[in-house]
Amino acid sequence: MDKEVEVLYIDDEINNLISFKANFRYTCTIHIAQSTVEAEEILNNNSNIRVIFCDHKMPNELGIDFLNRIKFSFPAPIRILLTAYADMELLVDSINKGNIYRFIRKPWVNEEITSAIIEANKFYLTTSLLDKRNQELEQAYRELDKFAYSVSHDLRDPLVGVLSAINLAREFEDLDEIYALLDLMRTSVLKLDAYIDSLKDYYLLRRGDLKLEEINFYDLATDIESFYKIYTSTTPLVFETNVDQVTTFKNDKSIIELIIHNLIPNAIKYQRVAEENQFVKLDIKVEKGGVTIRVEDNGIGIPEEQIEHIFRLFYRASNQAQGSGLGLYNVKNAIVKLNGDIKIESNQDKGTVFILSIPSK
Ligand code: ADP
Repeated sequence: MDKEVEVLYIDDEINNLISFKANFRYTCTIHIAQSTVEAEEILNNNSNIRVIFCDHKMPNELGIDFLNRIKFSFPAPIRILLTAYADMELLVDSINKGNIYRFIRKPWVNEEITSAIIEANKFYLTTSLLDKRNQELEQAYRELDKFAYSVSHDLRDPLVGVLSAINLAREFEDLDEIYALLDLMRTSVLKLDAYIDSLKDYYLLRRGDLKLEEINFYDLATDIESFYKIYTSTTPLVFETNVDQVTTFKNDKSIIELIIHNLIPNAIKYQRVAEENQFVKLDIKVEKGGVTIRVEDNGIGIPEEQIEHIFRLFYRASNQAQGSGLGLYNVKNAIVKLNGDIKIESNQDKGTVFILSIPSK
């Protein structure tokens, strides 16, 4: 066993606490409490406690009552009751209430405590894994629901658009009118393509393993700059990149590109039309241990009350431009996958900056 396993022992007899700590301090991390009040405080401050040993006969609150009381506020730790009494009624009552993993008779022997910690820890790991799987399953169901809704709108609407344009075009003979309809079809097909691209990213982030490689951010920024210059050269918007890399950096390049390729189109899309000096800046600074990437614009900004929602699946906070509402959801998942962090600073009608910190692997 390792010190990662945290155990709380509650007993009103100080000698028992001292001897427990002395005996098991090399086996795991021990917290001790002389009362249930003290124990509650320790539980509040140490969310990683996996096993609680609690003496039954204590002056202010019986062990069984305490364990029963904390069942909902601290459901995760495995609860073990220590008692000097072979009290059948107590045993049956606790088993019926289902709040005790096992009993240990006092005075305890070291081997019994050690094996109880090992077993309780295994039980803890299994139940917490199960909890995690359940949460993931619930989230998957919620996402499936949203996908069903989104497919019927975001995929169907452009298709219906193309179909109507085709039907109309069959009735026209004038080439200009047909070209105008072709343009409409093109817009719809591009929308479909962008949606499918985001779905591909969604899938990649869920399934794929990380492919680590050394990243030269000067090269990466040059590629990005030439890619977006094609779009921005015919607009008043100034796109600037700035890289400062003093050391090597290793991580999954395609995921970092995916993040940047979701943030920059947003920074371009959500500009203020009336702004004369529109800009988008990509700043990359690589230092020992990680990279900080800033994507800044002086666009429409995000209303304060919307900021906490924008990373949600299919959430859209503006109708200024077309989009699927998948982009920032993918960005957040990508950041989690790389063990990074993302912050936003945004002011309505002034602009937005996304600040990412990604560790080197
Ligand atoms: P969308 O496809 O709608 O752009 P995203 O997930 O990329 O979806 O973004 C979610 C919402 O966040 C957008 O609808 C927009 O309202 C807001 N948003 C994202 N980036 C910016 C930005 N740079 N400036 C202003 N609003 C932004």
